[in-house]
Amino acid sequence: MRILLVEDEEDLATAIQAVLQRQGHVVDHCADGLVGWTLLSGELARYDLAIVDWMLPGLSGPELCRRARGSGLTLPLLLLTARAQTSDRVEGLDAGADDYLSKPFAIEELLARLRALQRRHPGYREPLLEAGRYRLDPAKGQLLVSTSIGVVSVDLSVKEQQLMAYFLEHPDQIIPGSRLRNQLWDLHQDPVSNVVAAQVRLLRRKLAGQGLPSPIETVPSKGYRFHPQLPPEA
Ligand code: CA
Repeated sequence: MRILLVEDEEDLATAIQAVLQRQGHVVDHCADGLVGWTLLSGELARYDLAIVDWMLPGLSGPELCRRARGSGLTLPLLLLTARAQTSDRVEGLDAGADDYLSKPFAIEELLARLRALQRRHPGYREPLLEAGRYRLDPAKGQLLVSTSIGVVSVDLSVKEQQLMAYFLEHPDQIIPGSRLRNQLWDLHQDPVSNVVAAQVRLLRRKLAGQGLPSPIETVPSKGYRFHPQLPPEA
């Protein structure tokens, strides 16, 4: 998932960000409510979920939620709050938040709430991690490829897994490099650097290291296309 985290407590934000990234999520963080609103409503990235602190400089969490709902955004919103009064919680939910978590909280509870929010969301579907000859095993961090001589497993880095997961969800389609960059890299990446091409190269090299041809075709000036039926049966 691509997650927006709006939290002005730096220590907490750093901890949340680290855990979510380890789980394979792409996280953009900002400490100001107005900046958060700009990111959420902007064209730079499409977020699957936002975690928003209640008390923020610029714009409060509930106000941010109100604006998001007012402008038709339907993504799940989780409010973090040090305020545990019933009236506060009601205010947060009335503002359009889907759930709230009172500080301090265990990080496991945050993760559980995020999973629940994700499942409850109308647009949610289990990510399809299998296409053609390819299957991703996130628990092991491995890509499994069916070949004529059996199943070959390839160890992937977190970024390679994210890239491969995206290809598996969009087989046989031309995917612009800019879309891959927007979906899989956070905003701190230099927008002109060629991170996507470099990552695709690494992935191809890793497959080649196992004697596998690349299923990822570069379509000149258009992007990339993943061929789930490659390599063909010998
Ligand atoms: Ca705060």
